[in-house]
Amino acid sequence: MADPGAFSFTVGTRIPGRHGRTGVISTPHGDIATPAFIPVGTKATVKAVLPETMQELGAQALLANAYHLYLQPGPDIVDEAGGLSKFMNWPGPTFTDSGGFQVMSLGVGFKKVLAMEAVDVRSDDVIAKGKERLATVDDDGVTFRSHLDGSKHRFTPEVSMGIQHQLGADIMFAFDELTTLLNTRAYQEKSLQRTHEWAQRCIDEHERLTAARTHRPYQALFAVIQGAQYEDLRRKACRELESLRGSAGTGFDGYGIGGALEKHNLGAIVGWCCDELPEDKPRHMLGISEPEDIFVAVENGADTFDCVNPSRVARNAAIYVAEGRFNINTARFRRDFTPIDDTCDCYTCANYTRAYIHHLFKAKEMLASTLCTIHNERYTIRLVDRIRESIESGCFDEYKAETLGRWKGRIRTP
Ligand SMILES: [Zn+2]
Repeated sequence: MADPGAFSFTVGTRIPGRHGRTGVISTPHGDIATPAFIPVGTKATVKAVLPETMQELGAQALLANAYHLYLQPGPDIVDEAGGLSKFMNWPGPTFTDSGGFQVMSLGVGFKKVLAMEAVDVRSDDVIAKGKERLATVDDDGVTFRSHLDGSKHRFTPEVSMGIQHQLGADIMFAFDELTTLLNTRAYQEKSLQRTHEWAQRCIDEHERLTAARTHRPYQALFAVIQGAQYEDLRRKACRELESLRGSAGTGFDGYGIGGALEKHNLGAIVGWCCDELPEDKPRHMLGISEPEDIFVAVENGADTFDCVNPSRVARNAAIYVAEGRFNINTARFRRDFTPIDDTCDCYTCANYTRAYIHHLFKAKEMLASTLCTIHNERYTIRLVDRIRESIESGCFDEYKAETLGRWKGRIRTP
């Protein structure tokens, strides 16, 4: 059987009086110094950028998506290739999410996580106007139609575990039910119970597959904590997930904090969860990348976080700099022969001008996406690297105040 000892977490320096800390997650494909930003390569590629480049700009691990890789090319092909890391030529650690978010948000009219508002809570089945709901949830799993060809599929906790074991990432997530702030309290309670039952089924199947697939390195399984904006539900979810075990004694290796939350209560929710969770297990925050959210999540105890935004907005010409975000597409950059950020150490800023990148976007050249993705990913990774250093040197609060002071100044046309 694969050795569970191949995965471990060591706590380093703490932020005094708070849950935030540095640490090291060790996986069969290498170590991750935390806090760490995990860039997203949804379909086993960070769009427009070579894996070697992602290494050069400091990415320590990448996160791919089980739903997308299940539909295309199929998890059996990734398995045959020797697992995700080999298949995509990324030698470092990898994560896969369970696919739950994608299948349950198909065709449904809510926006992703932080953008949601809890106003007018009326329905548990909110569907965008003019859209057919593509997924239905029951106690056993989710039936959905592929966004690619409309074909019908079904995910259950066992199916998600099977797919993620075939994909072979170092860190996997349990299959959970996605709720939104638009769901009622009664529904959140019911959903939490379902997620709890699914978590037990994930552990059982994970334990069975780990014992059966002796030829593969150990894969760690993280639970996902739901409970929306309700403190009692979040705390209850943490306690219950922490106590779950398989028949051979397998528990969760770490925890993902997911689900519906608003920006203003992000810190409180992470804090409630970290009050309850064991100190010696890593905590992943799903789907954040804005600097203010990163500081709040780290300070309250998140060790890793992922987000597709730095690369997604880069392909739409949006650039992150210390003073905020600006769009390189605007006409004022036509004759601007300076780098996009003269304080940045990335390949793009060392070699290209705003005028050139502006031209690439206007001419619809692919290199525009590559250069901007390199910069935005480097910006986010460097920000988190510096947060880690600031915790180690005992000046987290000073670094936070200085960074957010500049960022919130929002000088959008530097
Ligand atoms: Zn740069």
